[in-house]
Amino acid sequence: MSLCDLCPDPGYCCRGLVLTSDKKGDVTAKDGTLVFPAEEGIWAVHDYIERHKMPYQPVDIERSYRINGRKYNSWTLNCPKLGRDGRCGAYEDRPENCRNFEASTTKTPTCVFYKVKSIGGV
Ligand code: SF4
Ligand code: SF4
Repeated sequence: MSLCDLCPDPGYCCRGLVLTSDKKGDVTAKDGTLVFPAEEGIWAVHDYIERHKMPYQPVDIERSYRINGRKYNSWTLNCPKLGRDGRCGAYEDRPENCRNFEASTTKTPTCVFYKVKSIGGV
């Protein structure tokens, strides 16, 4: 059994994703949030997702930044692989971002991993 079986909102962690990156060539904000040139709009995100063979779909601009005099946006993404039961429909093939996701390090309030960590359990 996984702590996810106790989750009050299964799949919360797979909705409204915001990507981070430490890859050379990617532009990021100071906290590692991946950002895209504002003037390229949603196409910059689509292009990145396709190039990296990710399943995500951009939903909306999450936040705007100015970096070295240029405007950038971070984007919230949803994932079509997320099942109605809140489970991943492509668990074995999920992207690197999903594999590296550490629920206990997020501040996702409903996440059981986060709750357990916040009371010193993990
Ligand atoms: S990782 Fe956290 S938010 Fe996601 S399903 Fe599991 S317990 Fe819920
Ligand atoms: S691929 Fe799976 S783990 Fe990754 S965001 Fe989509 S549903 Fe969640």
